[in-house]
Amino acid sequence: MNEQLQLILPPATIGILGSGQLGRMLALAARPYSYNIHVFSPEANSPAGQVADREFVAAYDDLDAVRDFARGVDVVTYEFENVPLATAETCAAIVPLRPGAQALRVAQNRLVEKRFFADNGLPTAPFTAVHSLADLQAGLTEIGCPAVLKTAVSGYDGKGQVKINHPDEAAAVWQEVGEVDCILEGWVDFEREVSMVAARDGNGRIAHYNLIENSHANHILDVSVAPADVPPQVLAQAEAMVQTVLTALDVVGVLCVEFFLCSDGQLLLNEIAPRPHNSGHLTIEACVTSQFEQQLRTICGLPVGDTSYLCPAAMANLLGDLWDFQRKGAKKQRSKEVEKSVPSVKSVDESSPDWTAVLTHPHLKLHLYGKKSARPGRKMGHLTALAESVREAEKIVRGARRRLETGD
Ligand code: AMP
Repeated sequence: MNEQLQLILPPATIGILGSGQLGRMLALAARPYSYNIHVFSPEANSPAGQVADREFVAAYDDLDAVRDFARGVDVVTYEFENVPLATAETCAAIVPLRPGAQALRVAQNRLVEKRFFADNGLPTAPFTAVHSLADLQAGLTEIGCPAVLKTAVSGYDGKGQVKINHPDEAAAVWQEVGEVDCILEGWVDFEREVSMVAARDGNGRIAHYNLIENSHANHILDVSVAPADVPPQVLAQAEAMVQTVLTALDVVGVLCVEFFLCSDGQLLLNEIAPRPHNSGHLTIEACVTSQFEQQLRTICGLPVGDTSYLCPAAMANLLGDLWDFQRKGAKKQRSKEVEKSVPSVKSVDESSPDWTAVLTHPHLKLHLYGKKSARPGRKMGHLTALAESVREAEKIVRGARRRLETGD
C-alpha cells in the first residue's frame, strides 16, 4: 500500500520528460485546471512545447539541465518510455517521479518486460533471449517458425523487428537487426488485438477503461474502436491482468497493456506502456475522464476519475504519408457542395491535406500535433468520431481519412 500522497494542486507545475503528442495532450488536459506545464526534450518548438508554459531544450544526458528543469516543477512524469533511465532518476532525486523508474525500466527493454510478465504469472507468446546467432538458431529450434525477432531496446511501431518464416533466414535476420541483444518470440496467430488503458492513484485504487480494439497497418496503429465487442470473461481477464501489472510495478499514473486475443478467448500480453497510449486517444471525447486527465489527476495525488464511456467511439491515425501524398500531387478537389456552403480551410503549408471535409462533418474531431515536418509513418494527428455504435464510428473515421487521401 502506498503512503497517502500529498495533493499537488493548481497552480503547481507539472514537468514532462519528452515533448511529443502525448505530452501535448497532457498539457492541454492540464489547461482547464490551470496547472503550469514545463517540458524537457532535445527538440525546440515541439508538439508539447508549443502549448506548455516553458520548454527546456537540452540533451537527455545533460544532467545539469535536467536538474535545473526538475527544481522548477512539483512532479515529473514522462510521455514516452525511451527517456533514459538516468534522466528520470536524476529528476526522482529532486521531485516525485510518477510513474516511478521501475515502470520505465521494465517498459524500456522487451526482454525485461516479458520476464516481468512471466514472473508475475501473466501469459505471453513463447520467448527466449538472443545475444548471438547461435542463440537465435537454438531459439528457432525451440520455438519454431514463424517467429519474430525484436531488438530488446529502442523498438516501437514495428521498428527493430523482423518476422522469420524459416530457420535458414537466421543469419540474414541477425545481421539485419544489427547483431544486438534481442528477444525471439513465437508468432501469435491472434484473432484480434486489444488494449486496456488503466490508472492507479496514490491510494492504490485502480480504474480501467473498457477494452479497445486495434488494427495495425505496417506494424503501426491504424484504427482503434471502443468499447471492444468481447465476452464479459475476456474483459474480466484483461482487468485482472492489468491490475497485476499496475500493482507489481507500483504505478501511480496511467499505463496501457496491449494484448493479443486468440480465437479460444485467451489473452496474451504483448507489451506495456507506462503512460497514455495512442489507442486511448478516443477517451478524450468518449469518456467522462480522458486518459490524459487521468494521468494528470493521478500524478498529482488526486483520486482516479470516472472511466465510463459516454458513447461508442473510433479513432484513426493520420500519418505523414497523407502529407507526402498531397505533395506528390494527388488531386485536392473539394466536394462542390461543401465548397459552396463553407469557406475553405487554409492549409498550414504546401503539403497539408485539405481539412474541409473533416472539419465540416458534425461527428468528427480533428487533432493535429503541430509537427513541423511530415514523413511516411510519422504520427501527425488523429481523427475521432462518436456514434451510436462502434461500427458507425469506425465507418465515419475511415471514410473521412479516405477522403483526405483521395481529395474527394
Ligand atoms: P510491438 O512493437 O511488439 O507492439 O509489435 C507491433 C505489432 O507487430 C503488434 O501490434 C502486432 O501486430 C505485431 N506483432 C508483434 N509481435 C507479434 C507476435 N509475437 N506475433 C504476431 N504478431 C506480432
